[in-house]
Amino acid sequence: MARRHDRRRTAERAGDPYAADAHDGAPYGSDRHPGPQPGPAIELRGVRRTYGRGAGTVQALRGIDLALAPGSFTAVMGPSGSGKSTFLQCAAGLDRPDAGEIRLGGEEITALGEKRLTELRRSRIGFVFQSFNLLPSLSVEQNVLLPQRLAGERQDRARARELLERVGLGGHAGRRPGQLSGGQQQRVAIARALITRPDVVFADEPTGALDTRTAHEVLELLRQAVDSLGATVVMVTHDPVAASFADRVLFLAGGAIVDDLPHPGPQAVADRMVALTARPVGAAA
Ligand code: ADP
Repeated sequence: MARRHDRRRTAERAGDPYAADAHDGAPYGSDRHPGPQPGPAIELRGVRRTYGRGAGTVQALRGIDLALAPGSFTAVMGPSGSGKSTFLQCAAGLDRPDAGEIRLGGEEITALGEKRLTELRRSRIGFVFQSFNLLPSLSVEQNVLLPQRLAGERQDRARARELLERVGLGGHAGRRPGQLSGGQQQRVAIARALITRPDVVFADEPTGALDTRTAHEVLELLRQAVDSLGATVVMVTHDPVAASFADRVLFLAGGAIVDDLPHPGPQAVADRMVALTARPVGAAA
């Protein structure tokens, strides 16, 4: 499989392709020009989330510190109960931490009201789910345009068509999701996640419902979204092969980041997971 390692150190790129796009309408950051170094696409500082009270208290996140550069692809792994879902929910503004700060594209989101947070989720965060979550009554193109519709933005049909071309579904814009295979539906979901040029795309086990070959195709597309479009992707996965498509793997255990593996190979990822599963929950790295 062709992997473009030379293009993977996206954190070192200058300029913000989305910002350039917004000004001149150039397609997909094709004209990346040097500019001021952008800040992190997303940043968490001291993020804690506790469930329950008294003796039943669970510290799901114990102080997460993290900054992810624009144009980076990060996988998040960890044993069951390690805090992956809670991390994703908090980082994506779907749940509120008890303490700490989360900045999305430089904007602190933890103190935002519900209405503003919903607006921000619609326009500045893309989601890819294990179960695709397309609306069956809408066409493929309408599904891709849905985030713009929900955000009250102009529906950019030309961009929707181009994204569908990119994910290999140029000829399927008028179909219904039910007429597509699982892999094709997930490609639609990726196009949908990218339509608003979000600060971050969160992918939650995006290949969990796919066979190995289709999963590879979907992971290649996420990789391309990062390499070609400058997207920032955060993917929760339990699959070491899936994680190996990322630039970096963060390992959670007991609600803390206990390991950070750059340039992950599947075997190295699998070895770390085995070591983590053997480690007592909550133990430090
Ligand atoms: P993971 O996604 O890695 O399996 P979670 O983020 O779902 O982990 O859970 C982290 C910890 O928080 C676990 O101990 C889990 O039991 C607990 N937890 C998660 N959600 C809730 C909840 N709504 N109420 C109480 N405890 C929860």
